[in-house]
Amino acid sequence: MHLYNTLTKKVEEFKPINPPEVKVYTCGPTVYDYPHIGNWFTFIRYDLLIRTLVSSGYKPKWVMNITDVGHLTSDADEGEDKLAKEAAKEGKTAWDIASFYSDYFITSLNKLNFIIPSQLTRATNHIAEQINLIQKLEAKGFTYRIDDGIYYDTSKFSKYGDFANLDLDEQQAGARIELNPQKKNPNDFALWKFSPREAKRDMEWDSPWGIGFPGWHIECSAMCMKYLGETVDIHCGGIDHIPIHHTNEIAQSEAVTGKPLANYWMHSNHILLEDQKISKSLGNTITIEDIETKGYSTETLRLLVAESHYRSQSKFRWDTIASANQRLVRYRNFAVRRFQQDGKTNLDAPDLISPMQDDLNTPQALANFEEFLSKAEDTNISKNSIETAIKLIDDLLGLQLSKTKNISQQQKALINDREKARNEKDWQRSDDLRHQLEKMNISLLDTPHGTIWQHIA
Ligand SMILES: [Zn+2]
Repeated sequence: MHLYNTLTKKVEEFKPINPPEVKVYTCGPTVYDYPHIGNWFTFIRYDLLIRTLVSSGYKPKWVMNITDVGHLTSDADEGEDKLAKEAAKEGKTAWDIASFYSDYFITSLNKLNFIIPSQLTRATNHIAEQINLIQKLEAKGFTYRIDDGIYYDTSKFSKYGDFANLDLDEQQAGARIELNPQKKNPNDFALWKFSPREAKRDMEWDSPWGIGFPGWHIECSAMCMKYLGETVDIHCGGIDHIPIHHTNEIAQSEAVTGKPLANYWMHSNHILLEDQKISKSLGNTITIEDIETKGYSTETLRLLVAESHYRSQSKFRWDTIASANQRLVRYRNFAVRRFQQDGKTNLDAPDLISPMQDDLNTPQALANFEEFLSKAEDTNISKNSIETAIKLIDDLLGLQLSKTKNISQQQKALINDREKARNEKDWQRSDDLRHQLEKMNISLLDTPHGTIWQHIA
């Protein structure tokens, strides 16, 4: 298996530390709102990675965090607390908001047929671990205290800019625009923020430095280390995590352990909506429910995600999801042939695993599947060949073709009646029956191997 590694900027052969186990850490949602379509593209790509590992014989141990403690509206430490802001807007506490959107997220993972991570870890359940890690950083001299919190001194970590190729000198020169003049270096970030003296926050905890709350980045370092150890095989996130969040995770973890946080870093590229960046502030977010309201299934969304490579910039458009849906209808109509056909021809199964093992080349996997479909559709294919192919694609892409249902006895009787009418050359009756079936979303296809029914949509 080969994966593109952001660390080395090359496609590399994947060698896990302790096969067949593969330790995977993925950065999860901040639960102050419904995840939008761009978030789901990234999360579905995590799931595709896990499925590929499983189909390749590995045993992934997958940890994803849930950021349920307020982190701030910018990735840096400025701006408002997103959770507190949403809580004030909805007239609830930050705890209510976090609990509602965490539950929603987990329900959605199931609805989208995710392989559920071995651990879904909430930041608020790991405050002690985060404090402990900050103490270790403090003991090693990586921290300093200013008015609003405990900060990480990035000048103490010599590799700080390496991961993201940051030009630190240039940033130092631009430091006069820095909002917090007490910070020693522009990239220094909060490990622990103090609660404001005049106000009580919904979410705050005691710490050796005073009442407050953890900075965003420290939760991933702490929970990753707790559940997966000092070095994981693969760490994933969105491409926008590279310059700040993942750079800071590396600085925190590696300063303490002296070991690589991850051997392979994978990043999902941006998703544009039409040609625009997707963001809540632009008001152009689309949720799973918006997609369902337009009549598309979650499998259609999965297929749409698979149509683009995770390292290319993808676009979400309503016409592209419509064409993904047409594709899915074709796949499902292949799957229902197993109820109607058991021919003599055994076809070689489509090769889906090789492209997936080649840096998750989902577009190539789909192309191989469709080449197989074109052959299969013209052939008196065996039921076994159909079942093998749909199991392969379900395992790798989670499309649930094997759940495509058979038609009812009553519908089968109508098809038989039409067959009889045709044999008796009663064309009027044959047409009437065909129309009756079309109203039930069933179309008929007369092939050299007999009449085949299909779902229209
Ligand atoms: Zn993270």
